[in-house]
Amino acid sequence: MTNLKRNPELKDFQKYILEIEKERGLSSDIFHYALMMGEETGELFKAIRKSENQQVDPNSKVGTVREELVDVFIFLCGIANKYDIDLEQAFRDKEEINKKRSWKQAKEN
Ligand SMILES: [Mg+2]
Repeated sequence: MTNLKRNPELKDFQKYILEIEKERGLSSDIFHYALMMGEETGELFKAIRKSENQQVDPNSKVGTVREELVDVFIFLCGIANKYDIDLEQAFRDKEEINKKRSWKQAKEN
C-alpha cells in the first residue's frame, strides 16, 4: 500500500497521486479528472455553506471543508500530473506574475 512520506514536498503529493492511480485502478483520463475536480469543488462549496449555517439539504452527503479541500487537491495534482506540470515551480512562476499585478477594491454601485 502506498503511503505519503513524512514531511512531503509538493512533488511528493504529485508522486503519491500517480501511485494511488495505479494501485486503486483509478481512471487517469484527463476529462475524468477535470469533471471530478469540478464535482469536488461543488462539494467544497456545499461544505462551506454548511459550515456557515447556510441553507443546505440536510439529507445531502457532503464532507467537511477539510475533507473536501483534500478531494479538490487530489484532482488538482492529478491534472498537473497529466500535463507533466511541477506544481511547486508553476506556483513560483505564477506568483512572480501575480506580484506584478495591481489589486484594487472594486467600487460599489
Ligand atoms: Mg468530496
